[in-house]
Amino acid sequence: MTILWSTLIIGAIGLIFGVILALASQYLQVEEDKRIGEVEALLPGYNCGACGTPSCHAFATEIVNGEAGNLSRCKPGKRDENFNPIMEYLKNNPNEDGSAVVIKI
Ligand code: SF4
Repeated sequence: MTILWSTLIIGAIGLIFGVILALASQYLQVEEDKRIGEVEALLPGYNCGACGTPSCHAFATEIVNGEAGNLSRCKPGKRDENFNPIMEYLKNNPNEDGSAVVIKI
C-alpha cells in the first residue's frame, strides 16, 4: 500500500510540475527577431570566434541590434559572398520603427 501511495504522490507532483513548465513555456516565451537567423545564414557559418563573439549567431545578433559596428570583424567573411548580401538584406529589412540598421563593411 505504501508503494502505491508513493507512486501516486510522485506521479501527481510530476504532473503538476509538467503543467507549470508547459504554461511557463507558452507564456514566458521570448520571440527572437527573425532577421537574426536570416543574417546568420548569410555569414560564413564557421563559428570560429574570430569576430570576437562566440558564434555566428551571436555576431548576427550584434549586427541586427546595431552593435557590431563593422562587418569585416568576421575575418573569414568575403565582401561579395557575405557582406554585400547582408548590407542588401538589412537595407530591405529595417528596424520596426523604420530606421536603418547601423553597420559598415
Ligand atoms: S568570425 Fe565570422 S565565421 Fe567566425 S564566428 Fe564570427 S561571424 Fe562566424
